[in-house]
Amino acid sequence: MNIVMLGPPGSGKGTQAQYLVKRFGLVHISTGDLFREILKNPDHPLYQEVRVVNEGKLVSDDVTNRVVENAIEKLKDSKGIIFDGYPRTISQAQALDRMMSSVNMKVDVVLDLNVTQEVILYRLLGRRICPNCRKIYHVNDGYTQCPDCKVPLRVRDDDNEETIVKRLKEYNEWAAHLKDYYSKSNSVYISLTIDDVSKTSQEVQEEVIQEFSKRGLV
Ligand code: ADP
Ligand code: ZN
Repeated sequence: MNIVMLGPPGSGKGTQAQYLVKRFGLVHISTGDLFREILKNPDHPLYQEVRVVNEGKLVSDDVTNRVVENAIEKLKDSKGIIFDGYPRTISQAQALDRMMSSVNMKVDVVLDLNVTQEVILYRLLGRRICPNCRKIYHVNDGYTQCPDCKVPLRVRDDDNEETIVKRLKEYNEWAAHLKDYYSKSNSVYISLTIDDVSKTSQEVQEEVIQEFSKRGLV
């Protein structure tokens, strides 16, 4: 089973992907991770093309597709792939369809974590990071210092309302095209609305599994 994950920054996409990896023995392809890996190696043939990431820009569709194709090639014998951060444009979605069909696979499920802006703001504005070990806490955890490192927790620079709202707006713009694309495809589209700040990632995971089983996917 191959899954494309959609969800705004702060939606907990990465965490849900990890659960699905464990539960179904899938492998996780995150374009952000693949690009960070390439940036560790200045001799990588795509290093120059990927460097734009450091300026906050998107990598070109062509280079992104090549990086993903390479990763899929290595994983074609796996039980399935979860795509996270990809596709991000219609042209990437079309390229993914072509890559998948060339190895006799398809995007079976699109899992859209539709977390409301209110919940995202609550999560991200309450987020505190340990400057030493980088572990993330929430103000409601009640810590003012890192329990491991004993240093005061801090707010991350990009965790301010203006930046978050801007990133959400950007996400909504590009994701709308993909939602439209996949709603017309033969992939199963699962949208989970998360509008309750007290919902835990375990609870979300259970709902995800319920949605899968309703559709006979597990
Ligand atoms: P975020 O998208 O939240 O910034 P990611 O870790 O998913 O974090 O990606 C890091 C960066 O890599 C993005 O900001 C973008 O520059 C680039 N990137 C990731 N996925 C893609 C993609 N599908 N197409 C183009 N660029 C991408
Ligand atoms: Zn720490």
